Amino acid sequence: MISHHLALDYTLAPGWMTPFVEGVKTGVATGRKCTDCAKVSFPPVRICPCGSTKGTWVALSGQAEITWRADGADGSFALARFEGANTLSSVKLIDVDPDTTNGRLAASEGDLPMLLLTEEPNA
Ligand SMILES: [Zn+2]
Repeated sequence: MISHHLALDYTLAPGWMTPFVEGVKTGVATGRKCTDCAKVSFPPVRICPCGSTKGTWVALSGQAEITWRADGADGSFALARFEGANTLSSVKLIDVDPDTTNGRLAASEGDLPMLLLTEEPNA
């Protein structure tokens, strides 16, 4: 076997997911509501489980409930249900206390959009 480091530069165009990707970069949750069954997906799905490909973009609050959490050497991750969405999202947790069950979407870091959930500030 030959081991060789290979670096690649390439561009991924967000295409139809542009509203979602731009929102994630700034901490704004934008879901996709199916025109036929009204279910909201976040992250958006191109084809709804009902079979429809028609949908509209909807603004979500960005608040989310943590339904499952894993803590490891690479950080903390969770499955979270964003308010107004019918789907679960995989998120990376940023400074979220282990006893905390809610958070809000934070602006993504770096060039690659990533779902980050941070602890809700005290009201
Ligand atoms: Zn549908």
